[in-house]
Amino acid sequence: MTDSQKTINKTVSITGSGLHTGQTGTLTFRPAKENHGIKFRRVDVEGQPVIDATIDNVISTDRGTTLGKNGVKIFTIEHVLAALSGTGIDNVLIDIDMEEMPIMDGSAIKYVEILEEAGIREQNEPKIYYTVDEKVVFEIPEKKIYISIEPAEKFSVEVEIDYETKVLGKQYAKLDDLKDFKTEIAKCRTFVFLHELEYLLNNNLIKGGDMSNAIVFVNKVVEQEELDRLAELFNKPKVKVKDIGILNNLDLYFDNEPARHKLLDLIGDLKLLGGNLLGKIKAVRPGHYTNTEFAKQLKHKIKRL
Ligand SMILES: [Zn+2]
Repeated sequence: MTDSQKTINKTVSITGSGLHTGQTGTLTFRPAKENHGIKFRRVDVEGQPVIDATIDNVISTDRGTTLGKNGVKIFTIEHVLAALSGTGIDNVLIDIDMEEMPIMDGSAIKYVEILEEAGIREQNEPKIYYTVDEKVVFEIPEKKIYISIEPAEKFSVEVEIDYETKVLGKQYAKLDDLKDFKTEIAKCRTFVFLHELEYLLNNNLIKGGDMSNAIVFVNKVVEQEELDRLAELFNKPKVKVKDIGILNNLDLYFDNEPARHKLLDLIGDLKLLGGNLLGKIKAVRPGHYTNTEFAKQLKHKIKRL
């Protein structure tokens, strides 16, 4: 592998709301020099603290991956990191003026588009690649969670999900080459089950307001009264359950969009290892906890090419 490290040509910004806080803020990508890596900077906090996008700075994986250092936190970093992996960017400084990344449409596509709009350029150092000598497995058998990496010359990911619900069923997604990230994975949005959404809304844990940023699977009988209440919360004239068992707040881009989104999250979380990982990854029911625990284990087993 003799590719060069990459950064962006110019500074670009994007404004949006945080899913959990409902705050509106601006995220700015700035070009960075060779071997800088990916760093976040909280520009709304005194002293503008910088937090490196590394696995050691993960402090929570509850409904998203959160980085933190000296009491300063940044929530929901995974879609931004996935966009950086998907565009092959190694070095960038990300300014944010709130404690959460904007959720945008619940996918990574807006981030990919703005990074491409900035222009991506090659730098004067070779890319950093990591690989494994032998298979590494992380498992939680009682939760049917499995994730592994095997030695391979390029990066590929396979994801399988099955939550034992009829409406979502068993789904599978695969990405053989990061060059297909934009067309196959980037626009795949996050998903929730209706009962989880009700819990989050009732406990004030999401304040996104406009629910165009998550696929909502309905795995129980819902009364009209409840749908009317959701319509009010979603700011929609009418909410109904579509034949395929999702709410009508959006249309699916792919039948297996949820599995593809899990793959997106996994790519984003693995970016916390720094550099570019080579290997064949397989994951069953991955989530942010699994992804980051796997990355922590992997950190001690990868070697630089
Ligand atoms: Zn996600």
